[in-house]
Amino acid sequence: MSQRAMWVVGNWKQNHLPEAALTTARAIADGLAGANGGVHRVHVGVAPPYLSIAAARTACRPISDLWLFAQDVAAQDAGAHTGEVGPAMIAQAGCAGSIVGHSERRADFGDTDALVRRKLHATLGAGLHAILCVGERLEARDAGTHESVVISQLSAALSDLPLELVTARLILAYEPVWAIGTGRTATPEQAASMHRCIRGWLAERWSAAGADRSILYGGSVKPDNAGALVAAGDIDGFLVGGASLEAPSLLAIVRATASAPSHTP
Ligand code: PEP
Repeated sequence: MSQRAMWVVGNWKQNHLPEAALTTARAIADGLAGANGGVHRVHVGVAPPYLSIAAARTACRPISDLWLFAQDVAAQDAGAHTGEVGPAMIAQAGCAGSIVGHSERRADFGDTDALVRRKLHATLGAGLHAILCVGERLEARDAGTHESVVISQLSAALSDLPLELVTARLILAYEPVWAIGTGRTATPEQAASMHRCIRGWLAERWSAAGADRSILYGGSVKPDNAGALVAAGDIDGFLVGGASLEAPSLLAIVRATASAPSHTP
């Protein structure tokens, strides 16, 4: 796979009990199987709640193009950590990796920059994909400090990561907090500009190899705005919340993403 692949990943959050997860994942997998060639250059995944991962996985068998992710992951593999699910466990459950540092985890569950860093290192170190979420709050956007906020989150999570882990299975997601679940999307220019800033920061540290990462946008992405966002350039797909809960809207976002000019060889 090219380092800089196109992705659309649905974050189901605290939605979809096993039966609904199975039905929805099956409808997405069937939609992908029946789709035309262009759609197949987009990697499509869903992140069900832990309880529903096994059900969603049955929809992916025996062969499917649908990837499974966890929504969060512990920083350690095992031990006396009540309520935690670690990298080895999500791998065993069939996940290719996990979202790490989602703004809801940061705001509501005490995921500090330091904890996000530990989760990220544990996930990549276990050979899994990590979708690292970064993004500023509205106050920072209004104050014009959005780039420095995002760079400080990147720096805290990634600074001492060896190049081989950066280039292994790291995916980034720029998710402005003010756009998540609000119906207010970043404009294509705002999103593309932040993606260029993130890529520039990666290039400064790890040169071209480190900058060749997929950077997804997330924040009220819907079938009717995905095409314009991805056409802005430097946006390698989406992390999608609300619009990923129903197969038709997630598949429509995948088709819109597939229609973008290819960034990859
Ligand atoms: C998210 O939570 O990652 C997200 C992007 O949510 P929504 O698409 O609902 O804004």
